[in-house]
Amino acid sequence: MNEKKDYYEILGVSKDASIEEIKKAYRDLALKYHPDRNPGNKEAEEKFKEITEAYEVLSDPEKRKIYDTYGHAGFGPTGFDWTQDFSRVRMDFSDIFGDIFSDFFEDIFGSDFTRKTKTRKVQKGSDLEYRIYINLKEAATGTEKYINISRFDECPICNGSGSKTKKGRITCSTCGGKGQVIKSSGFITISQTCPKCKGEGEVLSDPCSNCRGTGRVRNMHKILVKIPVGIENGMSLRLKGEGDIGPNKGERGDLYVTVFIEKDPLFERKEENIYLEVPITITQAVLGDEIEVPTLTGKIKLKIPPGTQNGDLLRLRNMGMPKLNGYGKGDMIVKIKVLIPKKLSRQQQILYQQIKETENKDDYPEIKKFKERL
Ligand SMILES: [Zn+2]
Ligand SMILES: [Zn+2]
Repeated sequence: MNEKKDYYEILGVSKDASIEEIKKAYRDLALKYHPDRNPGNKEAEEKFKEITEAYEVLSDPEKRKIYDTYGHAGFGPTGFDWTQDFSRVRMDFSDIFGDIFSDFFEDIFGSDFTRKTKTRKVQKGSDLEYRIYINLKEAATGTEKYINISRFDECPICNGSGSKTKKGRITCSTCGGKGQVIKSSGFITISQTCPKCKGEGEVLSDPCSNCRGTGRVRNMHKILVKIPVGIENGMSLRLKGEGDIGPNKGERGDLYVTVFIEKDPLFERKEENIYLEVPITITQAVLGDEIEVPTLTGKIKLKIPPGTQNGDLLRLRNMGMPKLNGYGKGDMIVKIKVLIPKKLSRQQQILYQQIKETENKDDYPEIKKFKERL
């Protein structure tokens, strides 16, 4: 590996050069070697990186002190944390020369060159979650519910800038606008995100008092949630763009409404079918009957055929839950529960006795089969 060149040598300045001398040396060299002036020239690009690296260290009093004391070793085994990203170089470039030179640089490098690329981190806002409880009938017919949520909106006082007078962002004094600070202890140096500006390189000089400089305030919102027909328990509805507004005017997050369906006292749902247990008496089962049963949409008459068995399932087509895709409905399945009387009146006892005497057990194939197996 090549021995790293001395930073002072690279810039062609003396060890006790002032910051102005360093700036001037860098400016002269940067004008000569900038990649925009030397398209496709690898050598110039390398040279430009070299001088920029030297400048980044020597222009920062803290880094310069580390370099003067420990040399390149002061920046750890991998050396100075150099980023290949030229946008950062451009950014630093316009910082050094300031607006006075803007026109001059624009002439040479194009307008893109002096544009400030240091922007605050624009993030998408947080997604929010809300739980809603409905009953089965509401799930069957679909419903609309208003919910109240607390979410971040743009601060109306500063229009989300966080700055009271709207001029307000100044270079962070802690990191000198670099967003990073170098901590050193002996030979160990660590580059950390600046604690004051959180890496943004800028701080607010006049934070808005309404939002304390964050640009966002919490508000309560009443939001209409449309619950589709046939929704299933635990499903989430995504309301796009109804979440928090992001920091620094970032895009809004989404609102997720999870719908829970309360247990119904009568109906049990299995996907699009609903089950209903209906108790009937022994005579209704034997002789047949017509009874009234509830459905999701009201009562209907149900025919119990003679000879209905305990546990028989009667299927009522298209009386179940509507399918979520909007096409068709499930069935309602009635499970018959035949009740055997536990107490009989004297008269009933006589009547049942008479039935028993007429009964021929061999008329029942199940009993017959059972006997044969014994
Ligand atoms: Zn504000
Ligand atoms: Zn800072």
